[in-house]
Amino acid sequence: MDFNYSPEQRHWLDRLGAFLADHVLPAKEAFVHAGEAAFDWPWQSPPVLAELQAQAKAAGLWNLFLPPAAQAHAANGFAFDSPGLSNLAYAPLAEMMGRYEFASRIFNCSPPDTGNMELLLRYGSAEQQQHWLVPLMEGAIRSAFLMTEPDVASSDATNIETRIERDGDHWVINGRKWWSTGTGDADCKILIVMGKSAPDAPTHAQQSQILVPIDTPGVTVKRMLGVFGYEDRPAGHGEVVLENVRVPAENLILGEGRGFEVAQGRLGPGRIHHCMRTIGAAEEALDLMCARLSGRTTFGKTLAERSVWQERIAWARTEIDMARLLTLRTAQLLDENDARDVRADISKIKLAVPRAALRVIDDAIQAHGGGGVSGDFDLARLYAKIRTMRIVDGPDEVHARVIARAELKPHRLDTKR
Ligand SMILES: Cc1cc2nc3c(=O)[nH]c(=O)nc-3n(C[C@H](O)[C@H](O)[C@H](O)COP(=O)(O)OP(=O)(O)OC[C@H]3O[C@@H](n4cnc5c(N)ncnc54)[C@H](O)[C@@H]3O)c2cc1C
Repeated sequence: MDFNYSPEQRHWLDRLGAFLADHVLPAKEAFVHAGEAAFDWPWQSPPVLAELQAQAKAAGLWNLFLPPAAQAHAANGFAFDSPGLSNLAYAPLAEMMGRYEFASRIFNCSPPDTGNMELLLRYGSAEQQQHWLVPLMEGAIRSAFLMTEPDVASSDATNIETRIERDGDHWVINGRKWWSTGTGDADCKILIVMGKSAPDAPTHAQQSQILVPIDTPGVTVKRMLGVFGYEDRPAGHGEVVLENVRVPAENLILGEGRGFEVAQGRLGPGRIHHCMRTIGAAEEALDLMCARLSGRTTFGKTLAERSVWQERIAWARTEIDMARLLTLRTAQLLDENDARDVRADISKIKLAVPRAALRVIDDAIQAHGGGGVSGDFDLARLYAKIRTMRIVDGPDEVHARVIARAELKPHRLDTKR
């Protein structure tokens, strides 16, 4: 067991770190203030994005999230830019990108596109890959994944009610979705929609997933939802109504009734990526906290000299390091096993990492006093963003259930309900 980063990880960290310092950080203001003048969606990305993406591609820092086996799934062998890094090699890079919310997009590594690309690679037909995956991998378009619905408890995906009905050589879709991340972006062109195509089939054969171009008649993005008031531009989180939306039969992904299989395949690596970016956000908050405490004085001492703050710093460092170790271990497990066999391990990091990061960010806000809750420092926005991680991709309780059921299994208790 070696706890040091491997030469491969250090190599990529050095390359990514240099690119961020030389090209991305000087452009930070353009991203932070992007779209401030635009009141309505779809939102545009700042023009500097395309320039940075071209530079990242030229520097070989493109599609870093795709594992080595990805190329084998490319139908008709179409080639794409990607160094083919393992989850373990990619994890520290995701952490580095996580320090700056806008950064992952520059390297074509941002959700929900990463999960959608993996889904299409793994389950898309040759035509679906050619039409949608190729431009996604080139960063030319963006995508959204529409599972969650306002009218049912979507933590349990068997509740999803959107209807996907066959009509000749088309499917007709009716339903209402929300929290459809990415639908505010002018570049979002394709939706992956989950819905019931066979309501009378056994529970896990009722749902299908289908590709819906966002400009199909009957698709309406009703509004953008805020996260504690933040709009998360340019991606945004839309409420989307699907009214008699007709798409060709060949838009169905993998086959009728296979929606759960497709959904499961999508979520494993994505949760590792979320957790590593969250650790990056916690590191950023700890840096800001230490800098602030070292520069402010009350009652004759800097705040950093107070034992209460030293204890909070100590816990922050300890919790971040624990979170990182557990996540790296899970990344390695995912590289070496099928995602279904390490489900409980993935749930452990999904449960532990956002909570640890939120404690660090909360202390960093406290250290900044009134400034901490203002928009002048990045902390309020960071807290809002990371708070959603306890809900996105399954709430804490659902992940706790997965872990507890695995733990209880040898005790032969009836844990089914
Ligand atoms: C910022 C953000 C981005 C998102 N992006 C997307 C996206 O791109 N696509 C998409 O489809 N969805 C997306 N979501 C939705 C997210 O995945 C769902 O909100 C989540 O799965 C929970 O579903 P729900 O909101 O219907 O909550 P519900 O299912 O109604 O659950 C409410 C609460 O009940 C509790 N609960 C649930 N099950 C149990 C249990 N078994 N035991 C005990 N308590 C339980 C939990 O506390 C949970 O928070 C996003 C959400 C947010 C906040």
